[in-house]
Formats: sequence, structure tokens, C-alpha cells
Amino acid sequence: MMTTFRGKGVYGAIALGRISVFKRKEASVKRTHIDDIEAEKARLEAAKENAKAQLQEIYDKALREVGEANAQIFEIHMMMIDDDDYNDSIVGIIENQSVNAEYAVAVTADNFSEMFASMDDAYMQARAADVKDISNRIISCLSENQDESAASDEKVIICADDLAPSETVLLDKDRVLAFVTAFGSSNSHTAILARNMNIPAIIGVGEELLKSVRDGDFAVVDGYSGEIFVDPDEETKTRLERKRTEDEEKKRLLQELKGKENITLDGTKINVYANIGSVDNIGSVLANDAGGIGLFRSEFLYLESSDYPTEEQQFAAYRKVLESMAGKKVIIRTLDIGADKQVDYFNLAKEENPALGCRAIRICLTRPEIFKTQLRALYRASAYGTLGIMFPMITSVPELEKILSICEEVRNELKSEGVEISDQVELGIMIETPAAAVISDRLAPMVDFFSVGTNDLTQYTLACDRQNAAIEQFVDTHHEAVLRLIEMSAKNAHEHGAWIGICGELAADTSLTESFLRMGIDELSVSPTFVLKVRDAVRRCDLSKY
Ligand code: PEP
Ligand code: MG
Repeated sequence: MMTTFRGKGVYGAIALGRISVFKRKEASVKRTHIDDIEAEKARLEAAKENAKAQLQEIYDKALREVGEANAQIFEIHMMMIDDDDYNDSIVGIIENQSVNAEYAVAVTADNFSEMFASMDDAYMQARAADVKDISNRIISCLSENQDESAASDEKVIICADDLAPSETVLLDKDRVLAFVTAFGSSNSHTAILARNMNIPAIIGVGEELLKSVRDGDFAVVDGYSGEIFVDPDEETKTRLERKRTEDEEKKRLLQELKGKENITLDGTKINVYANIGSVDNIGSVLANDAGGIGLFRSEFLYLESSDYPTEEQQFAAYRKVLESMAGKKVIIRTLDIGADKQVDYFNLAKEENPALGCRAIRICLTRPEIFKTQLRALYRASAYGTLGIMFPMITSVPELEKILSICEEVRNELKSEGVEISDQVELGIMIETPAAAVISDRLAPMVDFFSVGTNDLTQYTLACDRQNAAIEQFVDTHHEAVLRLIEMSAKNAHEHGAWIGICGELAADTSLTESFLRMGIDELSVSPTFVLKVRDAVRRCDLSKY
């Protein structure tokens, strides 16, 4: 009989196949008495070195397959192995209790992961899995047990309680149809890696999954709806098989649009750009023939780092994006930390309503040294391509005046240092608060462009927390209020010689493409995989018809 489990899809695609329940070789840790403490500590050191060497190999593999930003987690794992608090705890247990290193590592892993799991911050909670992951690796090295390969020989749907980042990246992509996990959060590195590995995936399905499924069970995974149907009935199987075939056919047809213009039937042209979160996504931008990058969420450089990225590190990343795009426009958004994107080293105060708190440009204006470092890196990179800089969460004219004066200060500083910078850098703002849309007539003369962030604009206009799944029924993404604010911003932008794009998720909603074009939207910036779908929608519009 068919059983249905529901979770959250982290990559939309359909997969049909047999289940393989992910088996982790649990290192069974026994507590034993040790007489020679020094020898035990030396054994621990050797195991740690071995674990780091393994991680280096995984890092190299990840670097080749999923790029630098996604591989970074394994560098962080290597650093975590050397973390002082973590090591003091292990060594302290060995010394004080005269016990074996395996036991000391296992106890430390439990304590540290519980500590992370109990934190309020979703990002920190996700780190609990990392501590367990490195600890299991050390224990495995101590016991001279090497992990078995995670993948089976045939193509399978992997079902697991949760997958540690190192387990996910070690999966042989050619043998994995999909993965489904009982737990996991969309903030975890596993989810991020999965999206980048293009593996259909569902997380947070619940404990029942592993109690019910067995190796070899047939299932269908619908990564769009977040459902897995185990032992599906004929109707479900046929429906999703048809959907998969349609998906493949649509993808194939869309490929034919590469190299073609984003032009309506009546001759109106717009730009279709791509949104990225990392330098590693550029391959996908180019493969999908995007005309430029409409939103580079620079905060991911901060999220993936364990400390503030330096000016040099940022410069290298921005320069690489600009050079790879070979003169095509690249709009880099200054950091949008806060709300759902928390970074521990920023030490932000805990807030009752973080989405309404100190986030994005508010952090930059209260901590200008962070802002200036980023601006210096951006302006230095501007000499290597066509750069636009965009500021998030704008609400007022004085705020924008302040930002523009800091930009000027940074430009003058660099010029006086003899650094080459472009004098063609466009400056723009995100329209993602109702305030910005309402005063867009005042803001437009101050900038070169607007980019509408519909994700936040919808949240703030409808007073619906974008993170809260429980109020989804109240979120009408086509709400007239949101559409009117976009239209108002477009009119005001054009009256003052600025151009306007949309970079929120709504830009990829092709049921609205014609409405956006009628409003005069000049650019739509979407996930790389949606570029051709939007191009197709644009080419079907006829604005001469009413
Ligand atoms: C938006 O708010 O629509 C947007 C593009 O920014 P983010 O989703 O990163 O907040
Ligand atoms: Mg936003």
C-alpha cells in the first residue's frame, strides 16, 4: 500500500527508483581504563592527523565537484579538529578520568553538539551535525575503521536520518537518484550542497520515514512538492512519470533558446540576468546563457567564513566574478546579514523581531568599517568588468545620502592611493520595503537603478514573516498591493532616468512576466536554471495586444 511522507523540497525534480537506507558505520565506543595517559594522547594526535588528511582529500574532491565555497566546510572541519575548547575537553577527559581517547571524543561530541543544538540561531544549530561528523571521523581513525562508501552500486534514492556534509559530498552523484532525510534544515550545509550538486532532495520528512522504509522499496520523490511516495499506486506513478518526462522535454526545448534575444513578439527587449550566491555558481550562469548577474548575494562570502572576510579575499571573489562574466553586467549586493542570515562572529544582539531589526544596510551604517572594507574590495574589482553595486533594505533618503557619501569617500581614498577603479560603476538600491517603493520618486534621482526584492517586499507589505510556514495561506504572492508598489517604483524610476529590475523569486513567476513587461520592468534576475524559462515567457508576450 502506498505511504506518503511530506517534508521540504530543497531541489525540485522528480525521481523514481529503489530506496537505499543510508547506513552509517556507527563506531561503537566503549569506555576503557587507560594507564599510560601520554601514550593515549599520542594515539589521539595521530588519529587527528589521519582525520585531517582524510578531510583534505574530501576537500579536494568537493573543490573539483561543487566548487570552493561549498568545499570550504571541510576546511572548517579541519580547523574544528584543532579547536582549543574541543581539544581541551577531550584531553581533560582522558587525563582526569584515565579513559580511552574514543570515549573522550564521543563524550565531547555529545556535549558540544547538544550545546549547538540548544542555541536559538538556526545556523549554529546546524553546526551540531559538524561536531558529530568530525568526532565520528576521529573515532573511526582511532579504531582504524574507515567509513564505507556511502553509495550503493545501482542508482538509488538515499533515505537517511540526516546526512553530514562530508557524507553528502562523498556520495557518488552518478549513483544517486535523490535523497530524502528525516531531519535536516534548509540552512544546513547538506541542503546547500545538495542544491549545488543538483540532486533532487527532500529534508525534514520526520522520524516515521526510517521506521517504515526498507532497502529495495520502490518510491517516487517529488522534489517540487516535497513528497515521497513509497510503494506508489499506479495513478501516482504514472502522474509523476509524466511530469518527469514533461520536465525533461521542457528543459530540452528551452536549450534551443540559448543565444536568442529576450524580445517580445512586438519587439520589446529586456535583460534576463541570473542570481548567484557564490563565485562557484558562475558556471551555471554561463551554461544557461544569462545576460549578466542581477544579484550576487555577497553575504554568502560572510556566511561561509568563520571570520570577517578580508578586503583581499573579497576583492579576489568579486574580481573572479567580473572577469568570468567578461564585460557583462554584474550587480553585487552589499552584505545582507541579519534576519534569517545569521553569522556568529558579527555578535549581533538577539532581537525579538530580527526581520525588523538590525539587518543589511543597518549593520553597514552602524559598523561602517565593515561596509568600507566591502566597498574598497568592490571598487578595486570594478576595473575588471562592468560592475553595479546595490544596497539592500533601503527605507529613507537620508540613509541613501549617507551611503552615497561613504561610497564617494571610498572612491577618493582609493584614487589617492593610486588604485585603478572604473568610473562607470552603477549604484542602485533594492526596493524591498514598502517605504522605499512609496518614496521611489525621491530615491530614483539619486541612483542609476532599482531592483525589486519581492521576497522581502511581500513579507513587509503583507506583514507575513517569510520564514513562517504556518501562515503560508495568507501569503498571496500576486497581492495587488505588492504589484502596485512595483508598478509605482517602475514609473518613478523611469521618470528620473533610472532603470528597474526584479531580483526576488517573483521574477521567475512566468504567469506575471507579461504584467511586469507592461509595467516597464527592464530586467528580470532569476536563478540560473530559470533564465531560459523566463526568456521563453518573454518571447511569447505581445504587448501590442490588450
Ligand atoms: C528579496 O528580498 O526579494 C531578495 C532578492 O533578497 P533576499 O531574498 O536575499 O532577502
Ligand atoms: Mg531581501
